Amino acid sequence: MSYNDWVEWKNNEISRALAVRNGNIYGIKTTNGQGVSNETKAVLDKDIHKLLKEYPVLKGRISEISFTELSSNEIASARINKNLDLALKLNINIFKNEDMLHGLIENENDMLSPEGSMYGYLKHEFTHFLEYQYAIDHSETVDQAGNDIGTSKYANEILDDAINNCGLTKSDDIMEAQISKYATYNSSEAIAEANSTIKETVLIKEIKKW
Ligand SMILES: [Zn+2]
Repeated sequence: MSYNDWVEWKNNEISRALAVRNGNIYGIKTTNGQGVSNETKAVLDKDIHKLLKEYPVLKGRISEISFTELSSNEIASARINKNLDLALKLNINIFKNEDMLHGLIENENDMLSPEGSMYGYLKHEFTHFLEYQYAIDHSETVDQAGNDIGTSKYANEILDDAINNCGLTKSDDIMEAQISKYATYNSSEAIAEANSTIKETVLIKEIKKW
């Protein structure tokens, strides 16, 4: 790292630390974060920083992070609205309760990488964002992008290609064995699960080549 890069890096780190103190995560407008500790916000900030480094196409694309009510076991949820703004929803009931949060990330899922961190859950959601952004970048109109996202067009393509390349046939049993139970839900979930797990199967490896 050059001196100038280092200065820029250091200034970014300081402004991110200040942003967390002011309630924002990664400089992204964060709403309803009262009751969530700054320590938890700092961990989220660090994981989001890591994910945006992995997926620079998503830099500047997430317009809001909001702590909100989600279904009871859902930690996070990637959303897109009709204007194609990306937003990350985080379950307020989990994030304001440190014991519940740590219990969930440490015990509930041993397939996410690295173990005992929020990173795996966020990576799952960021894989949805990647799919949305890909659809946006490959559509002529907002309606077209919305339609391609709604029908999981690109996730279907990736999953079907990967299944074919592995010589497998698509069935719930195979999806569950090769990826996870949640992967049987639809192809977007299958891709997100495959990308965020530490499990290694032929199908997961094939999907990760994408
Ligand atoms: Zn998902």
